[in-house]
Amino acid sequence: MKEDVKAAVLTAPKKFETRTFPTPEITRETGLVRMLGAGICGTDKHVFTMGEIRLGLPGDIVRLPIIMGHENLGIIEAIGSEAAKAMVLEGPPLEVGERVYIAADIRCGQCYNCRNIYGFPWCLNHTSYGDVISCDKPPHLFGGYADKMYILEHSDLFRVPRNLPNEIALLAEQMAVAYGSFGRAAQSPITKEGYAPGDTVVIQGVGPLGLCNALMARMMGAGKIIAVDKSEFRLRIATELCSAETISLSEYPKLSDRVSRVNALTDGIGADVVIECTGDSNVISEGLEMLRIGGTYLVEGAFVEDVDTRISPSRQILAKNARIIGVSGMPHPAYGRVLKMMDSYRNIIPFEKMITHRFDVEEAAEAMKVSISPDSGKVALGSMR
Ligand SMILES: [Zn+2]
Ligand SMILES: [Zn+2]
Repeated sequence: MKEDVKAAVLTAPKKFETRTFPTPEITRETGLVRMLGAGICGTDKHVFTMGEIRLGLPGDIVRLPIIMGHENLGIIEAIGSEAAKAMVLEGPPLEVGERVYIAADIRCGQCYNCRNIYGFPWCLNHTSYGDVISCDKPPHLFGGYADKMYILEHSDLFRVPRNLPNEIALLAEQMAVAYGSFGRAAQSPITKEGYAPGDTVVIQGVGPLGLCNALMARMMGAGKIIAVDKSEFRLRIATELCSAETISLSEYPKLSDRVSRVNALTDGIGADVVIECTGDSNVISEGLEMLRIGGTYLVEGAFVEDVDTRISPSRQILAKNARIIGVSGMPHPAYGRVLKMMDSYRNIIPFEKMITHRFDVEEAAEAMKVSISPDSGKVALGSMR
């Protein structure tokens, strides 16, 4: 008889139960992964506190009960003959025992968006692990806050470079978001819009997503990185990892003073790129104020539909000739790219400092509480070994 699989199930807002499920049988098109760890993401914090919310991809609504966790790293325990070939984007077919990162999103490959917009998870039949697939139906194991995960048909798996520690590999999903957004913000040489090496990048909010963007900015050659946050703890990590300049909300409680500070750090010009990574729509007006004329503003944190906000379309968008890019998800090849980038920089940048806490699956509620507090970086759930 196969052993049962333990999982943390969100049954209602702010309520986890540890449940066990039977180990499922796989098919030719599916697989099973033994979890090393799952990262807690900003989206998870919203789902944990609010429950059945609408998320930032087509048709996505959270349905409880769920096994949360979409930043998933594990070891292949079983894989179907078709899945071994179909689920890998680079290299030979997958094998049992290989360490892999599981793409959070699952695309159908057939709809208009899948056929016409390469790589992005903007599938019209989109689904994703850890938030929109309820665990009420077999084989249940559709999230990473568990000992094992069932890998559905059409999933993408990415081999982890052999010498890359689990603590760094775990960052792949959020690093892939940052990779995709820097790619989309790439500069047009004619208009000097968008990101180019040497530019100044302001990150609003240096929780895990903001830190991954700061790290991407560093690896892509930013001239100056400015981190804005209320948490001294997180600002310190941004400084240690990326030599970021910091603007602390306690030191600069007034919006106008924070904008002045960015101006002072950019010779009065404003930032080339500002990235919203707070999930709080009220910071968007402030971020636009920090932008230079012809600058680029990336909205990445507002993944969950929350409150609307006020901006000045005339002063902040038109007069500034601002380029505003919304970012939900990442091109799937980005997972493989960021794993290689982190592997190549791992002796230069101490990525693992981002993981500030680790908890076991049974401690999901405590892990969530810590990840919501300002004194945490990335929180990992699972044994990590
Ligand atoms: Zn995430
Ligand atoms: Zn599709």
